[in-house]
Amino acid sequence: MKDPGIFAEFGDDGVVYSSRKTIIDVKPIEVRWHGRAGQGIRTVALLLGHVALAEGKWTQAFPQFGPERRGAAVEGFTRIADVPLTIHGGIVSPDVVVVIDDSLLTSASVLNGLRQDTTLIANVPYSAKELRNVHPVFGALNRVAAVDATAISLDTIKRNMPNTPMLGAVARVTGTAKLETLKSVLTEHLPERVRRRAELLEANLNAVERGYNEVQVDEEPTSPPEVIGEYIKGATLPSWEELSLGGIIPQPATSLSYKTGSWRSELRPVWDAEKCTNCYMCFIHCPDNAILIKDGKVIGIDYEYCKGCGICAAVCPPKVKAITMHPEREAAPAKQ
Ligand code: SF4
Ligand code: SF4
Repeated sequence: MKDPGIFAEFGDDGVVYSSRKTIIDVKPIEVRWHGRAGQGIRTVALLLGHVALAEGKWTQAFPQFGPERRGAAVEGFTRIADVPLTIHGGIVSPDVVVVIDDSLLTSASVLNGLRQDTTLIANVPYSAKELRNVHPVFGALNRVAAVDATAISLDTIKRNMPNTPMLGAVARVTGTAKLETLKSVLTEHLPERVRRRAELLEANLNAVERGYNEVQVDEEPTSPPEVIGEYIKGATLPSWEELSLGGIIPQPATSLSYKTGSWRSELRPVWDAEKCTNCYMCFIHCPDNAILIKDGKVIGIDYEYCKGCGICAAVCPPKVKAITMHPEREAAPAKQ
């Protein structure tokens, strides 16, 4: 542990100075996590903080929640430094942006504040080179990294919990910790319900090791850095001073543009036309009006607005079972 009596402040140049204005370190590494409620964003932001502490660093870690419901977008923040931290707000312009749910990749909150030297680390089932093609800004970043954390977690933990392999990937790409440190921190700090089951703990240790070993990095930008400024301008979220008083919605009737299907993270309903008896139970109960009807008959499910709650499958008569829930990655067509 460092001497807590050190007084440190940030200069405009991003360098940390001591009270005598001598340079004592560069600015902290700031990591911003993006995922959905239920994917362990808070847990993984805190675990990275524990990892940094175990490596003798100073750290902060905390989440930021939006709506209180499973599937809603969640952010997490982790700061890591060699000196005591003097700032305490959220992270606006991250050194590392980690995207655990690929449906959020091109969202404004992910793009917000990216710089040419921001490293993007994403959970995707394709290569780091292909990740550059997902958005023009990704092509201009110095470093992008990809790992199929969902597949790793399904393989090891037998559940879609990609946060553990992503922790391994982030530690490797940022150089925050050695694999042994990661494993000992997980053994000590994973939630108790995981630690008390030896096979589940072992599965998590395997998952973190695979994330650490399987992450791929690409350091060959495919577009010029100017592209970033062009796109980031539009993606920058308003500051609290720019928001309307009392949260007034300045432009009503925008619900069509809120695609609730983008919250779907694990299972999607699949409808079987052969079995459907057109009883309308699914249509009546679907909270997002995502059951499509034409000429008085059910014709399918609108995946742009289906958030995967499973209510339609639960109310479809058991003898009919015309709607069943399937893992997102197994269902065709690909996630919308
Ligand atoms: S899972 Fe079914 S009930 Fe839920 S939003 Fe989708 S279509 Fe509607
Ligand atoms: S509840 Fe099942 S059987 Fe009834 S309309 Fe929906 S899919 Fe068809």
